[in-house]
Amino acid sequence: ASTTISASGEDTVKVTVRCRPPSKTEIAKKSESCWDIDSENSRISLTDEWAAKPGKVRKDFLYDHVYYGSDNCLLYEHSVRPVIQSTMDGYNGTVFAYGQTASGKTYIGKYECWSGVIFIAFMIQFLNEHKSCLGTEEEQGVIPRAVNDVFAIISETTEKEYLLRVSYLEIYNETLRDLLSPESEDLRIHEDKKRGVYVSSLKEEIVTSPKQVMKVIQRGEENRHVSSTDFNLHSSRSHTVFQMIVESREREPGSMPSSPTSQKHKSFLRGADYKRSVQVSQLVSIAINLIDLAGSEKATSHSDRRKEGAFINKSLLTLGTVISKLTEDRASSHIPYRDSKLTRMLQSSLSGNARIAVICTISPCHQSLEESQNTLKFASRVK
Ligand code: ADP
Ligand code: MG
Repeated sequence: ASTTISASGEDTVKVTVRCRPPSKTEIAKKSESCWDIDSENSRISLTDEWAAKPGKVRKDFLYDHVYYGSDNCLLYEHSVRPVIQSTMDGYNGTVFAYGQTASGKTYIGKYECWSGVIFIAFMIQFLNEHKSCLGTEEEQGVIPRAVNDVFAIISETTEKEYLLRVSYLEIYNETLRDLLSPESEDLRIHEDKKRGVYVSSLKEEIVTSPKQVMKVIQRGEENRHVSSTDFNLHSSRSHTVFQMIVESREREPGSMPSSPTSQKHKSFLRGADYKRSVQVSQLVSIAINLIDLAGSEKATSHSDRRKEGAFINKSLLTLGTVISKLTEDRASSHIPYRDSKLTRMLQSSLSGNARIAVICTISPCHQSLEESQNTLKFASRVK
């Protein structure tokens, strides 16, 4: 376990921009694509035609990665996998999907592909066996891929034993709601020396297989649907945080896996029956956060401007400030984690040993030009 503070700057935050393809309706409406994407040079700019329009200029935006299309495999490999791999070296890993509503944030996380959980479990196993990018599976999102990777890495690490816990929550109007335990309302954020900053009484499920994780998420999603009359509106205004806590310690020589479910993993994955006892070797706990942010579009309706919209704007603005300050010289600046629930609850993950991927999504259409430009500005700001 590494206890050094990671060097600020270069490696801490990586920024990716992805432009989705136009939808069928957009094509039917003859919506024009206005972005020129150069993945090879990680560059995006307005097309010559759009840059020539009054009031526009052709400006190149450069990021760590720039993509066009639907390939989540590519996106995962370059933008997310490095974060997941770093977590095994003791870094807390956080991935944000940022962008206006319908630009493709949820598509990135996508776990509910095709016929649901059973198929995903099958896919995970399949991908585990064929670790290359297979064209037809490009849609599978980064959540199942990340989960799968964590289990794969663990199964290769025989010298350690692990305990994995997952939680799933939503932040709506600056209120935290546990999607795995919807009856517990308005969760509070606490801080103590031992645990750092954490959400109190958040339900954490101990998991021993990727399939189990997918089931937990599915359950959380169902709770989200049930409690909201207008699901689309609600989901565009809330942040969802999927968290996986990976606890590990050096294995005592000769100890065997205790849980039958862990037998298929060569490593020592502890199940729910595992009782923590006083141990000599140090426990290392890291967090992986996969976050689908609220839509970044400007509030449109009057009531939105007053309430939800204001909360969203503030939390996304704070997020931008916090991430951009992480890449500056930390000693010299105050980082306003407390200005929003999202940054506050993630404080322990973002400060110290952190690896962060910000994936910004844009729509190709000219009708979304202004919002896409705002998204690119956010992406530039956190870079
Ligand atoms: P958001 O979560 O940002 O509101 P979604 O991820 O729900 O947006 O995407 C809106 C629609 O566009 C969905 O029907 C989704 O399947 C589709 N979509 C989004 N991104 C892509 C992509 N990269 N390739 C193909 N379809 C996409
Ligand atoms: Mg969404």
